[in-house]
Amino acid sequence: MQFFDSLDKTLRNKLEKLGLLSDFDLILHLPLRYEDETQLTAISELAPGSSAQVEGIVVGQEVLGRPRRQLICRINDDTGMLGLRFFNFYTSQLTTWSPGVRLRVLGEVRAGFHGLEMVHPKCRVVRDSMALATTFTPVYSTIAGLSQRTLVRVINQTFEWLRDQRLVQELLPDKFLLACQLPSFEKSLSLLHHPPATVPIASLQQRTHPAWRRVKFDELLAQQLSLRSHYQQRHSQRAPVLSLQINLPKKLLEVLPFDLTEAQHRVAAEISKDLAQPHPMQRLLQGDVGSGKTVVAALAALQAIESGYQVAVMAPTEILAEQHFKKLSQWLLPLGIMIAWLSGSQKKSERNQALEKVASGTALLVIGTHALFQESVQFKQLGLIIIDEQHRFGVGQRLALRMKSGEGEITPHQLMMSATPIPRTLSMSYFADLDVSVIDQLPPGRSSVITRLIDNHRRAEVITRIREACEAGRQAYWVCPLIEESDVLQLKTAIEIHETLSQIFSELNIALIHGRLSSHEKSEIMAEFSQGTIHLLVATTVIEVGVDVPNASLMIIEHAERMGLSQLHQLRGRIGRGSAVGVCILLYQQPLSELARKRLQIIFEHHDGFEIARQDLLLRGPGEFLGTRQSGVPLLRFADLEEDVDLLEMARDVAEEMLHSYPDAAQCLMQRWLGKREDYLRA
Ligand code: ADP
Ligand code: MG
Repeated sequence: MQFFDSLDKTLRNKLEKLGLLSDFDLILHLPLRYEDETQLTAISELAPGSSAQVEGIVVGQEVLGRPRRQLICRINDDTGMLGLRFFNFYTSQLTTWSPGVRLRVLGEVRAGFHGLEMVHPKCRVVRDSMALATTFTPVYSTIAGLSQRTLVRVINQTFEWLRDQRLVQELLPDKFLLACQLPSFEKSLSLLHHPPATVPIASLQQRTHPAWRRVKFDELLAQQLSLRSHYQQRHSQRAPVLSLQINLPKKLLEVLPFDLTEAQHRVAAEISKDLAQPHPMQRLLQGDVGSGKTVVAALAALQAIESGYQVAVMAPTEILAEQHFKKLSQWLLPLGIMIAWLSGSQKKSERNQALEKVASGTALLVIGTHALFQESVQFKQLGLIIIDEQHRFGVGQRLALRMKSGEGEITPHQLMMSATPIPRTLSMSYFADLDVSVIDQLPPGRSSVITRLIDNHRRAEVITRIREACEAGRQAYWVCPLIEESDVLQLKTAIEIHETLSQIFSELNIALIHGRLSSHEKSEIMAEFSQGTIHLLVATTVIEVGVDVPNASLMIIEHAERMGLSQLHQLRGRIGRGSAVGVCILLYQQPLSELARKRLQIIFEHHDGFEIARQDLLLRGPGEFLGTRQSGVPLLRFADLEEDVDLLEMARDVAEEMLHSYPDAAQCLMQRWLGKREDYLRA
């Protein structure tokens, strides 16, 4: 039974629109801000830009017709005059607020043409004497049709009810409260809903008060508990023990034309250790573009294969899957390993043949796009799933994938790879259900890419650049502008650019690649570009992820102002892979929005993917960053990952111990915070 259920239907519907579905949702609906009605400020003391409460007598009133119909009242409190401006008003208010009436007003002070004024202040007529409030006034976010007053009433009633039922009890064991120096849960909530005037109001507004810290801590703790308990659940499943093998990995390392970097060695060892455990690995391998994740994945695959298990490699696009197929074939075929290829465009007979090899176990490595694994591919003995560029998969897909690999007796190990670096605070919070390995070093000899910002009307200069690069035997990409929500238009633009460039450079071999081509056509073009027979590749953003052609050293990105930071970083990562210095030219079109200007500045100034990701997080917040805005993943409402790192670190430690020593309290805390939303967190 919930108090919420006893509310009338219309009210409940409104609350539901606000996302409030339970008693705890209601009492955790905390004020957006507070108003200070506990004191009066003399008009002479008012400072523009601040909010204040003032009391005075109406001394003048006029209705202006221009530029907009508005009512202006003037009040006086013996220390000075203050104007009150209203754009919406009832005629009856002219009488209520007529000269001689004493008004108490609250609002933001600003400097107007005729002295200080407030626009649409909160106004009350004072008769006799009216006591000042003893607590600050909370202001809640709400929707049209649901007044602050009703909302306050429901929240207070719910709080009372829960208290009577003893449901707001403390869930954190004393020792954590003491160690983290946090006040009790009930007291914190009570203070935030009714803060006494003795509390410094700035600590409420800025959410630094211990009561706020307690709430943020619990929010972070609930997230940690949920993700960690799912982690532990999967951890308790059985997985094949793929013990450390040295034969095949050693052979691969011998034939590679390069030595692994220290970082590659380190992460390969972390993965190898996981694979040898009897429970499924759930590891995210992060490494900036070009840091060499593929070879690390190949080593993991070899460990599985040598232990007698099959490996599946999934990529988000066909181009990428095919590239993996080529690279891994080149590395693994000489070791006598049979590889199956699943492609959307292959003939039915070919596909059946491939499926047959997978089912019988002759194919030890299977490569394809994610879509191809959605269908029922039957494995003889699958030991490891490798997912490249996992961030490209939607949350829903990740959810499905996890469930799928969670079925059955034996759960395969999972290695996810991502070139979109996740800032540390994000990976500590939203990715707490994964172990994370980071390749924090690029292979030697990479010169960093030089980035140039060029105004679109100077694009002629770019032509010279291309000619120079191609004459020196290098290759170039020309990336077409992203046209939101219109592939057709994007395609049209790409075709036009290709034509124009073909006319300008009659001596060069120029090709066009885009998403509408068949995968066969795409792979032919990519092969020719790899071999160097194509000099200039005009491309839509299909080349965004993973494409690896070291001889391409120049990239032109058109309308760079339309692209997101991680996309720009990914694209730029396609060049500077060989020995020549890479140059990335970002063409932009004025006028630039503030956001676009910031993005271009960040991509110009920074090359480290982690730093770019951190800036991106600051710019857009975690919701946009995670790309989950539409999917309903509960984002943190109160805690701020940048500002509350200390709380996040404490929550992580406490969660581990709570799950172990206080499982009931842990369960109850998750219920309070997540209720039905918990499912989404797993993705
Ligand atoms: P990403 O991490 O972006 O997937 P790749 O695995 O595609 O990067 O590697 C980028 C390029 O660097 C490839 O050509 C790969 O063969 C090469 N490479 C990987 N590791 C090293 C290394 N340790 N030294 C030199 N080149 C390397
Ligand atoms: Mg890659």
